[in-house]
Amino acid sequence: MPDEYKAPLPNPTPETKPFWEACKRHELRVQRCRDCAQAYFYPRDLCPHCLSRNVEWFQASGRGKLHTFVIVHRGLKVTPLELPYVLAVVELDEGPRIMTNLVGVEPDPAKVHCDMPVVVEFADVTDAVTLPRFRPAA
Ligand code: ZN
Repeated sequence: MPDEYKAPLPNPTPETKPFWEACKRHELRVQRCRDCAQAYFYPRDLCPHCLSRNVEWFQASGRGKLHTFVIVHRGLKVTPLELPYVLAVVELDEGPRIMTNLVGVEPDPAKVHCDMPVVVEFADVTDAVTLPRFRPAA
């Protein structure tokens, strides 16, 4: 367990706690509306599509595609990954978009491209916190 992880960590709120607890179990859970059936992220008690409060958590497939990305070459002293790294927005197959890191691929614009299929993996960065990251799908 990498005790030396020094980058900022999430500070779960009552709304986001189920998401982070699921990550700890290596499950990617997002919410969906029971009224309009749309899935969404970030976690909140109100459907952003129809404003219903009739929402639920479900386990996402963990599959999606790279919506957009930037390759970070210069960061703060504490960065979540070795420089350079890929800061990405992944669009899940279920619809919601998640800001994350793309790993398992060289941070090279010739190797990373929008719409590439990706799959979630989980990094246990401390005893208490697990972060979802994505890698190219096999
Ligand atoms: Zn809704």
